[in-house]
Amino acid sequence: MEHLDKSEAPDRILIHDAARPFVSTELISAILHSLDDCVGAIPVVAIPDSVKTVDKGQITGAVDRSMLRQAQTPQGFHFAPIIEAHRQYKDVDVTDDAEIAALAGISLLAVPGEPQNIKITLPEDIAQLRLLERATYVTRMGTGFDVHRLGQGDHVMLGGVRIAHNQSLIGHSDADVALHALTDALLGAIGAGDIGQHFPPEDDRWKDAPSDQFLRHAVSLVQSAGGKVVNVDLTIICEAPNIAPHSDAMRGSIAHIMGVDVDCVSIKATTTERLGTTGDGTGIAAQAIAAVELPRERA
Ligand code: MG
Repeated sequence: MEHLDKSEAPDRILIHDAARPFVSTELISAILHSLDDCVGAIPVVAIPDSVKTVDKGQITGAVDRSMLRQAQTPQGFHFAPIIEAHRQYKDVDVTDDAEIAALAGISLLAVPGEPQNIKITLPEDIAQLRLLERATYVTRMGTGFDVHRLGQGDHVMLGGVRIAHNQSLIGHSDADVALHALTDALLGAIGAGDIGQHFPPEDDRWKDAPSDQFLRHAVSLVQSAGGKVVNVDLTIICEAPNIAPHSDAMRGSIAHIMGVDVDCVSIKATTTERLGTTGDGTGIAAQAIAAVELPRERA
């Protein structure tokens, strides 16, 4: 606050507990608007439980809870009076800024707080955090499948990794079936169509294009919907090349492209017992599943 005062003192200030991650924009706006009519505005919530006094393990009385409120943050103040109050009462032990303001005689408006604006203080509060997260987000799944033909060449691109091979995958882009299947899985999870709709093969911009940009785009769509990728699981189906020696590099590459931890990416490989397109070496297939979490109201 002293630093603010020396640089660019604001007219109003909101003081917030970093331990309250669920503060809403509506509450922030309500506190700011309240400051049009008062010097200090404090969000408060009623106490739903009965309140007792206890001494040496014995209930000694009941407190009328109708007058009691729990104070939350952000607590809003006009800047000049609250910094002055802090300077004046800097040696006094208090639990919040509202108490300092009250000591300085600042009148405080009680603004309705929000029950979900909880404070994460103790390890057991994490359980409540998880419950709130579960109530806030829903998990969505999507699947993707892709096949590309093998033709003349000396390498294949799989999962963004260049693997030396006696043939190459043929396609409009770099034909990375693994990244294409993953892209479709993510698009599927958010109901955003398929890779062909976002990157039409007839569009020359995607000719020989590295496929990481398709996957990045799908991740960015998940993020702009307020969501996040939980995990992806990919199966590559081919007789050759042998995927196992490259699977760690592919996991790292895919995790990097998607901006997720490597343990959120699983890669498996299988053959089709020399049967069909992937068995006779004319093509490579990939299938993927993705889980994403979306805000409940957007899902
Ligand atoms: Mg494809």
